[in-house]
Amino acid sequence: ALFLVGCTSQPSQVNKEVDDGIKLTSDEEKPYIGFVLDTLQDERWYRDKELFEEKVKELGGNVKTLAANGSDQIQISLVELLIEEGVDILVIVPTNAETTSEIVKMAHEKDVKVISYDRLIRNADVDHYISFDNEKVGELQATGIIEEISEGNFAYIGGAETDNNAILLRQGSMNILQPLIDEGKINLVFDRYTEDWNPIIAKENMQDVLRNGEKVDAVIAANDGTAGGAIEALSDQGLAGSVPISGQDAELSAIKRIVDGTQSMTVYKPIHLLAEQAAEIAIKYANGESISTETNIDNGKINVPATLLEPIIVTKDNIDETIIKDGYLTSEEIYGQ
Ligand code: BGC
Repeated sequence: ALFLVGCTSQPSQVNKEVDDGIKLTSDEEKPYIGFVLDTLQDERWYRDKELFEEKVKELGGNVKTLAANGSDQIQISLVELLIEEGVDILVIVPTNAETTSEIVKMAHEKDVKVISYDRLIRNADVDHYISFDNEKVGELQATGIIEEISEGNFAYIGGAETDNNAILLRQGSMNILQPLIDEGKINLVFDRYTEDWNPIIAKENMQDVLRNGEKVDAVIAANDGTAGGAIEALSDQGLAGSVPISGQDAELSAIKRIVDGTQSMTVYKPIHLLAEQAAEIAIKYANGESISTETNIDNGKINVPATLLEPIIVTKDNIDETIIKDGYLTSEEIYGQ
């Protein structure tokens, strides 16, 4: 079954000439942008959807958001649907970095440009890639943990291997951990990706590590969802709070865990910057403008023009001046009344 969300289109306006000669554009004349997500499982994607839709409308476009429920096949069908509907630009969060190249081919046959959103589509003629610097996110995660403990048994709980971000995050973390592994200070007792970024699988993996009798001194978890799963497993063994663990996304539940001391840190990515800039790029492309970037990222086939934003490390010491100051979460939500 297709999981359709927020089929937003604006009330249709009549195409008429008003007295002073201003021509109102009809819905059909507005740029039509399709936003295709992988999943709505993690809290952040609702924000991406809302902020992206808002900005596209503000810039005079129409937008429809669809989510693929974690299936690359569904994602392909959703794109077919949008192309049939005459979409002008596609903005895609690929479920699978490799198989999504199919989508780019289909779109280009109809002269529809494709923007790779948050995650890179590999081995395809992608028109633009916009994301945060994910290798940096991985570096921040490892650095945050190393500041708490720089020796002992470490577990790496990765993201989905089909997501290019998961590869970059692990790369970033290893930039920091490898020298310490080489010196014999850190022993990597677990190092595995997590299918679909699924918190339940992360929990099971963490349970397995602990069941093997392995002492775990620190955990690098690739996002807040997987961290949440791993923390449940630690908690069952009375270890939550004594094993430093990272995360990413500044999800409300994760920030609460940081306040409680069961999670050490998270990485805050100001989603409004990503969503708004992606919407601006989409509308520019729809209007036939070209966009030049200083950065290009090799996706295995071409150097994709890229926009990379800065991630921000969050510990309990800077919650107020980062996510609360930005209005990402409120003080009431985090600390209660
Ligand atoms: C995103 C993360 C998110 C994860 C799981 C990654 O590609 O960058 O923010 O937590 O996917 O949805």
